[in-house]
Amino acid sequence: LWHHYCVKEARGTAVPGHMNPQNIRNIAIIAHVDHGKTTLVDAMLKQARIFRENQAVAERVMDSNDLERERGITILSKNTSISYQGVKINIVDTPGHADFGGEVERVMNMVDGVLLLVDSVEGPMPQTKFVLRQALERGHQAIVVVNKIDRPNARPDYVINTTFDLFVDLGATEEQADFPVIYTNALTGHSGVEPDALTDSLEPLFQEILRHLPAPTVDPDGPTQLQATLMGYDDYKGKIVIGRLNSGTIRKNQSVLHITGESERPLKVSQVFTHQGLNRIEVEEAQAGDIIALTGLGDIGIGDTITDPENPRPLPPIKVEEPTLRIT
Ligand code: GDP
Repeated sequence: LWHHYCVKEARGTAVPGHMNPQNIRNIAIIAHVDHGKTTLVDAMLKQARIFRENQAVAERVMDSNDLERERGITILSKNTSISYQGVKINIVDTPGHADFGGEVERVMNMVDGVLLLVDSVEGPMPQTKFVLRQALERGHQAIVVVNKIDRPNARPDYVINTTFDLFVDLGATEEQADFPVIYTNALTGHSGVEPDALTDSLEPLFQEILRHLPAPTVDPDGPTQLQATLMGYDDYKGKIVIGRLNSGTIRKNQSVLHITGESERPLKVSQVFTHQGLNRIEVEEAQAGDIIALTGLGDIGIGDTITDPENPRPLPPIKVEEPTLRIT
């Protein structure tokens, strides 16, 4: 569905059909540095593309003009998005080390589940603990991905046990502690549910994401509502507001109400972007549940609400320790 949506968009023909929130998964990957997050995301992107090529057809209707056009409106993002079996999986980047201004907490508010990626020898490290705690506190389910399972000294049982202990230490619920495990070799893009029986694709991981991590709970038919959760900046487009659309749709050039604390002002959205692969692509309209980027909103802060002027739905502000400018 997402695939179809993008192609229609790239051809500039029409407003996309409604993307059912059930066909979205918003996830974050929690990983200690060097455990293989970048390699895994690359492999996921590569394989999602291959799956799409196999589905074929619609992609080919894009001629070079369409491709040019798509390129012209593309801006790079640290977040990624892949499409698997008609489900759009948005992968939201989490900050590696220091957590500036509660960014991890805000990312956790945009996603509905996490992949906890751990090295098959080292197991979870202190730096993964901080982020995992916030994911668990937020009530998220996790899939534990034991990566680098090809390492000769891999010790999957030890890694699973220490990971389980960590969940318990962090106060995980029974359901959270009953996490599924996927073993991966991110370098080759192999995965499996048993450490010594991998298949030559990441399908077991994709399947588990669809099965175990929930779709966003949002209201597709409600009034427009989005909380400015992350800020980006683009040399040409200025400030970029990133957030999950909680309710309704949002369109290019739509008039919205910007609510900050007690004050509110009318605004007009310039452009609406969603994620596709490593890129942000412009769309005419975005759907509830998707993680989107908006331009043209000028002076807007983290935690502010963008909502429907006719039926405003302000969200409680987010506590931000220090203002962050996130260069995407
Ligand atoms: P990040 O810091 O978590 O993004 O880690 P990277 O993706 O950059 O990977 C760190 C190193 O581990 C790189 O040298 C990768 O090639 C290597 N690596 C990643 N995944 C695997 C794997 O499954 N098996 C092996 N043997 N090496 C891997």
